[in-house]
Amino acid sequence: MKILIINCGSSSIKYQLIDMNGEIVMAKGLVERIGIEGSRIKHETTGKDKVIINDPLENHGVALKYVLDAIVSPEYGAIASMDEISAVGHRVVHGGEKFSTSVIIDDEVMTAIEDCVELAPLHNPPNIMGIKACQELMPSTPMVAVFDTAFHQTMEADSYIYPIPYKYYEKYAIRRYGFHGTSHKYVTYKAAEYLGKDVKDINIITCHLGNGSSLCGVKGGESKDTNMGFTPLAGLPMGTRSGNIDPAILTFLMEKENISYEEMNEILNKESGVLGVSGISSDFRDLEIAADEGNERAELALEIFEKGVKKYIGAYMATIGNIEAIVFTAGIGENSGFLREKICQGLESLGIELDKEVNKGIRGEEAVISSANSKIKVLVIPTDEELMIAQETEALVK
Ligand code: ADP
Repeated sequence: MKILIINCGSSSIKYQLIDMNGEIVMAKGLVERIGIEGSRIKHETTGKDKVIINDPLENHGVALKYVLDAIVSPEYGAIASMDEISAVGHRVVHGGEKFSTSVIIDDEVMTAIEDCVELAPLHNPPNIMGIKACQELMPSTPMVAVFDTAFHQTMEADSYIYPIPYKYYEKYAIRRYGFHGTSHKYVTYKAAEYLGKDVKDINIITCHLGNGSSLCGVKGGESKDTNMGFTPLAGLPMGTRSGNIDPAILTFLMEKENISYEEMNEILNKESGVLGVSGISSDFRDLEIAADEGNERAELALEIFEKGVKKYIGAYMATIGNIEAIVFTAGIGENSGFLREKICQGLESLGIELDKEVNKGIRGEEAVISSANSKIKVLVIPTDEELMIAQETEALVK
């Protein structure tokens, strides 16, 4: 079965065509600058040369038509006809409280996804545009929605209810949702394989550390806590996002500097995190280099991040209990031996001990990086959200 995976952002589309027979990526690509001057598609069919198409793409519908044409192109495509695509799996950021699993998209599901726009005003609208455009282009192909929030719907109320007046939960559904669920789920299942156990029998902490970062406390294979919240702004300091800060800072700054709601949103989402502290970059590679060259604020930004991850590991060890493994994934988690070492430093008394030499050499590959004596295993598992979406899609349409 061949499945097309679509991940629509506000001006971008990432896609992959996966042959589930062997879970092989047949083609993949990225559309950028949709609706903006300079739009382009970078397309690559496995085993063929990369192509870049520079054409105006005024909206997601036009862009998706180009994507499908690229996939079936006799010259640089992967398949002869669109009929070979058995289903389309769509990444949808917010499923609210309605979706605790992936679902086949019908009218009722579409309405429910539209109802979640208020909760994710930046993310759900482009996801919806992508679904509608695909439905028009491939009216008889089943579509599946896979939600970033779904994996975390197993959290209990004492993890998801915020200590503000309860009426706001009832009125606006303000609660912790958590994100990166597809990634946390994928590495949880992989970790179970690694540990040689049924997923229902594992308690682990998964650390998705990338541009956006979140940790998840997994008990019996289910998410029981995570540090992103009502939005992906919560939790750790990220590339440009503040993560958790004292909420009184907002009202203080808004008053002192006469900052509007929009400006405050911009400051917290785009100008904070390690970029805000370092004043240099949101990219952790740049910060590692700058810190190495003696830049103190770059070093401070990295230290705040490391300490943040460490604190959440400690927190989930306490609340989840009997943790047997910690998993590092995503851009930083998979590639930065330096940050993994810093994060794990000082956790020996909790039973976490790295094999520093092994850790140093691991980049983007599955590995055990804890020492033989470590009570808790430390694993690096590259995430694969597209494959997870494909697997969920296949399971539903089969
Ligand atoms: P996204 O959240 O956009 O999917 P990724 O998971 O790809 O992001 O992570 C991207 C981030 O990973 C980059 O911003 C960069 O800071 C970090 N990163 C990637 N490789 C390394 C590395 N070798 N060392 C440190 N950080 C890295």
